[in-house]
Amino acid sequence: FDRSTPIEISLIERIEKLLPENILELLKTIGEKADNLNYRAYMIGGIVRDLVIGRQNDDIDIVVEGDGIYFAKLLANSLGGSVRVHEKFGTATWKHLSGLKIDITSARTEYYEYPSALPTVEMSSLREDLLRRDFTINAMALQINKSNFGKLIDFFHGYKDIDEKKVKILYNLSFVEDPTRILRAVRFEQRFGFEMDKQTLELAQISVDKISSTSKPRLAHELNKLLMEENPVEAICRLQELGVLNYLVGPNNFDIETIQLLERFKVFVDEVTFSTESENSCNEQLWICYLAILFFKQENGLQLVKDFALNNEHLHIVDEIYHLVTSEQALSDEIQLGNLHKLLKKFKKEAIICFAILKNLPEVKTKLIKTYLIARMAIPKLIDGRELKALNIPPSPLFSKILLEIECAYLNKDIFTKKDALRFVKNEYL
Ligand code: ATP
Repeated sequence: FDRSTPIEISLIERIEKLLPENILELLKTIGEKADNLNYRAYMIGGIVRDLVIGRQNDDIDIVVEGDGIYFAKLLANSLGGSVRVHEKFGTATWKHLSGLKIDITSARTEYYEYPSALPTVEMSSLREDLLRRDFTINAMALQINKSNFGKLIDFFHGYKDIDEKKVKILYNLSFVEDPTRILRAVRFEQRFGFEMDKQTLELAQISVDKISSTSKPRLAHELNKLLMEENPVEAICRLQELGVLNYLVGPNNFDIETIQLLERFKVFVDEVTFSTESENSCNEQLWICYLAILFFKQENGLQLVKDFALNNEHLHIVDEIYHLVTSEQALSDEIQLGNLHKLLKKFKKEAIICFAILKNLPEVKTKLIKTYLIARMAIPKLIDGRELKALNIPPSPLFSKILLEIECAYLNKDIFTKKDALRFVKNEYL
């Protein structure tokens, strides 16, 4: 895999074309500050890959051959902004005054005390820093020192692999050392339309069993990223093809029916989202809903999914799904939207969709829920707490009850305007 002298190509024209002027200037300034310290400084990782591919990316990671934390502090002192130091990893994040965050590290090697452990950090040079990365396409550096600004340094043929649309590991034990890289490989395959090369694919297939001894938070971190990509269902099918799901969800828990549920979930979410929100809106909770569908067939499946939650919101959405699928509430086909609102207002959109799919609700009910979700996102705030106070209703839990009743009446088309809402309150509560 290896070469000791890197291929060096100037990417200056591409950088000038793809990076915004202010970022370009900032990078040049950082390069000059590094020159003053006699440090070599490079951009590394995803941004370099994306510049080579020709995609925009403003997630800037910088490696210096020197003391990264000291360098980050020096940048903040001379150019403004603040620094957060992550002592354990020997890294720092410099938050520039513009709000841009730049991660700065010392060129280093991470060695693994045992497979699937978090890496321990040690100082070393650029080549070794790059060698500990996941794939050749992510293991290129782009120098930012003044005299070599924009020089691509490519030890492992990442440039060629991008050209050939290949995802390739850097050494044979890569997946054994870190099985989450299998999930990462699938992510890059899907995102860029690349494929693992033959050897990488074979090694991934041989190493899938290591997934079961990898910590849930580490897997969750990568599953989160993978399932938030554009085609989560295809990604899941690829995981199945590689044998990953046997070790993630258990053997025999994935079949054509699960694929159909996943696809129906995606279509449902897209229909509700695109008719109500801007196209770019991205929902942070969706990925865990895909996991919920994947695990649902297993006994206690939804409880198992909770082990993958990365924050309270993820936990909460799984609880909501659990509550909805286990509650006895039968929805009548004729239920009015306002009454549906009383039942479902407190649940998140994604949990409700997940429930509809997992319960395999008939077409009429699915349509009803879709109409409700679209309508509920467009409910206007006809009156607020201040206006209730002005009507001499003292602040109390009654407030939220009244506001809910107003929303329900609006959905039932009983009221339409502020005037209607005020009349409604006077009639019902005064
Ligand atoms: P994205 O465009 O999705 O942010 P990225 O490549 O920047 O993709 P990150 O997960 O943010 O992805 O990782 C940043 C860099 O850190 C990668 O480009 C890769 O070089 C390295 N990296 C991340 N995770 C691993 C890993 N498990 N093993 C080795 N290298 C990794």
